[in-house]
Amino acid sequence: MTFDPATEVQNFLAFGEFGDVNPSICDSSTYTFMSVAKMEEAFEHDMEGCFLYSRHWNPTNKALSAALARMENGECAQVMASGMAAISSTLLQLCSSGDEIVSGRTVYGGTYALLANLLPRFGITTRFVDLGDEKAVRAAMTPKTRVLYCESMSNPLLEVANIPALSRLAVEHGARLVVDNTFSPLILSPLRLGAHAVVHSMTKFINGTSDCVAGCVISSNDFIAQLNDVNSGPSMLFGPVLDSIRAASILKNLHSLHVRLVRHSQNASYLARRFQEAGLTVHYPGIESHPQHHLMLRLMNPGFGFGGIVAVDVGSKSMADRFMVRMQEEKVGYLAVSLGYFKTLFSAPGHSTSSEIPSEERERMGMGDGLIRFSVGLDNDMERTWSAISGCLGELGVDVSSVRTGDSAFARAGDFRPSTSSVHTS
Ligand code: PLP
Repeated sequence: MTFDPATEVQNFLAFGEFGDVNPSICDSSTYTFMSVAKMEEAFEHDMEGCFLYSRHWNPTNKALSAALARMENGECAQVMASGMAAISSTLLQLCSSGDEIVSGRTVYGGTYALLANLLPRFGITTRFVDLGDEKAVRAAMTPKTRVLYCESMSNPLLEVANIPALSRLAVEHGARLVVDNTFSPLILSPLRLGAHAVVHSMTKFINGTSDCVAGCVISSNDFIAQLNDVNSGPSMLFGPVLDSIRAASILKNLHSLHVRLVRHSQNASYLARRFQEAGLTVHYPGIESHPQHHLMLRLMNPGFGFGGIVAVDVGSKSMADRFMVRMQEEKVGYLAVSLGYFKTLFSAPGHSTSSEIPSEERERMGMGDGLIRFSVGLDNDMERTWSAISGCLGELGVDVSSVRTGDSAFARAGDFRPSTSSVHTS
């Protein structure tokens, strides 16, 4: 059955205290009780409409969490102060000393560092594998494996995870599949495809204005209650609480995510095709040469495109460095990490967001020093943007004469427009 996450979010109506259309912001850290008995009860179990202390729950954070749960078709969600807080709390809830994790090898550098460097200090070890190689995944799983971890669309190579197949493997081995869906909100719905928990860095597309750091976990009621348990929950006890004023602004931005994402996807698709026509190696799941293009077509929700991220290899670090500086000078966007902003951001992952991954490992996975990751902005005129980018490429000696221009090419960028394809839930 087709699932429309944008309509799910649209149908989330939270009425404010005074009928305000944006739910009132609760900026209280603590809450009163009319009797001691009620306060004692609140420590024992959750009570609808009753709040204790904002590190545990806050009404504004609850409103944003409810909207996110709808978006991911999950029972429940919990917002946190960063994407890393969401990832680390989830993994620490699922794993104890002696347990193992199997993770995709192309994950965000911070996640890689958490798994490779920090969690081993607590007796939790990780094997990194090529998730496209089912045999390798099977070989890495042991009776101690508690979590199979992947990014739905990996950072920065945009490999698409076969979530239904990974879910089957996880279940077969008594493990949980945790999916980071930061690159593809709305586009992919991992819980519907078999994941047990989904995490997001809301710092990126969900918020979309690069003005705060935030994260979330979406899963079952039980799992979110465990994360928040006053006696043993990692989110309650490590305390990565999201500020309620931020939660309120993210909720407002969430309601325009579908509009932004369509434009990000259109512009990224346009740019990917142009880079490909210029003869560069391009990673973008929307182009036919992408190894998981057909898998993506099978898994994606219709109508939001293939996402706003494009990675392109210009051959060497020195070329990448010069290209990025010139693009910034020509106002194509900013030389900056992060993604999902309304302006274009570009950086070379090998020496920034993925620098935590050892260089031999980066080489093995195809992340060369000349790779540049673009988070393509909401530009109104991509012909104009391409003209600036191709000018910079030309200065570096890249022959762009074979690239066609004109409106017909722009129309092709709309290839992803709503189709009749439906989501496969198994
Ligand atoms: N997951 C992915 C795919 C990311 O790209 C990032 C950050 O770049 C994170 C998680 C971490 O998120 P945050 O910076 O919000 O902690």
